[in-house]
Amino acid sequence: MRNTLSVSAANKLLNRFGAQRLDDLKEELTAYAKSLGVDLFGVADLSTAKDLMLSQGGRHVAGYPRAVSLGIRLLDDVVDQLRNHEDPITISSYRSLYTAVNTALDRAALLVAKKIQDAGFRAYLVPASSMLNNGKLEATFSHKVAANLAGLGWVGKSCLLITPELGPRVRLATVLTDAPLEVGSPLPNRCGRCTKCVDICPAKAFTGRPFSHSEPRDARFKAALCDEYTEKRIKVYGDVNCGLCVYVCPHGNKRKKKK
Ligand code: SF4
Ligand code: SF4
Repeated sequence: MRNTLSVSAANKLLNRFGAQRLDDLKEELTAYAKSLGVDLFGVADLSTAKDLMLSQGGRHVAGYPRAVSLGIRLLDDVVDQLRNHEDPITISSYRSLYTAVNTALDRAALLVAKKIQDAGFRAYLVPASSMLNNGKLEATFSHKVAANLAGLGWVGKSCLLITPELGPRVRLATVLTDAPLEVGSPLPNRCGRCTKCVDICPAKAFTGRPFSHSEPRDARFKAALCDEYTEKRIKVYGDVNCGLCVYVCPHGNKRKKKK
């Protein structure tokens, strides 16, 4: 099975399909995703992420030249309650929200992937909450990197995707594809001197280093410390992480209304 798509193969696809039809397809996918409840939609050029894709998902995943990134907004009234992150009602509400948003995202991503496939292109789903069983607590491919390259936001010191509109109060899913759709441009990091997420994390999981594509995630985020802390919480309170890094980010708690 073919695993990689060369630049010349991508150009052939572009020529065969035609720029106008590709623009129409992107417009159609955007409108369709929004009709499925998706708040953020973007397309990423993955050419700068090949090494990461190879290390996370292997050769098959690294063969896709584009990613469609989809985001659904969390509910502010639930996230705002996370300041009481040990309260059973807050925990239960956050867990339910997480599950509901992941389910909605996975359905939307699947249907968008099917539309891409129906248009004659390859499409490969990376669900909202897929963790590889490789001991590294990583997904098949980083949703955050896809969303960052698609221009939806930057990766903050919390290692979360921070969007200008919703901060980190968004969940993500990704569809990898060979459809040569027009891509977005990565946004510059706007964390500045803020260290709120670093300071509030009870597991001390963040090092405070700003995101860099050239550094491994471990340089910024000790995922095992968050995981250990979450395991302890699960024993006391039941499932779900504390979410304080989502709650505290000033880019997310602006109570912006969706336009
Ligand atoms: S979920 Fe909680 S423990 Fe985990 S990184 Fe965020 S603030 Fe730290
Ligand atoms: S809390 Fe501050 S440092 Fe952390 S991601 Fe948000 S803006 Fe960046």
